[in-house]
Amino acid sequence: MTDQELQQLTEHISLQYFAKPFTHRAYFNTRLKTTGGRYHLSDHNIDINPKMDDGADHEVLIGIIKHELCHYHLHLAGYSAKHNTKQFKQLLKAVGGSRYAPKISSRTSQTRYIYRCEHCGLEYHRRRRINLVKYVCGRCRGRLQLISQTRQIGA
Ligand SMILES: [Zn+2]
Ligand SMILES: [Zn+2]
Repeated sequence: MTDQELQQLTEHISLQYFAKPFTHRAYFNTRLKTTGGRYHLSDHNIDINPKMDDGADHEVLIGIIKHELCHYHLHLAGYSAKHNTKQFKQLLKAVGGSRYAPKISSRTSQTRYIYRCEHCGLEYHRRRRINLVKYVCGRCRGRLQLISQTRQIGA
């Protein structure tokens, strides 16, 4: 999907589910690593992790766009853009958006390497090898161990 198609899809979802136009920009941002998408308070644009666009039905992508559009429309209407408000939870539920922009680590189709913290058991799904000398568990600083290495299926 191109940036232009993403823009059109976002505008379409905005009209269909929020009954309000999306008049700012939506674009893919390859620099997003761990989040699915972001809404920018400063310029009202939405950037989306290109890795979220894989399935032909765009189910994950649409869930993320809806999530970001909840931030967008609430913020423009003068509400808080935070997740923990009643307005956000209600709107998200009403439009069927993703609760959280899915983390890349939960998307196993993209995973090649799975590491687990030896101490707390937290798993890390990565497309690239981690330098185990440099990186430790983000939660407890424990040592990481490579537990599985898979080849990517499909494209
Ligand atoms: Zn959010
Ligand atoms: Zn740990």
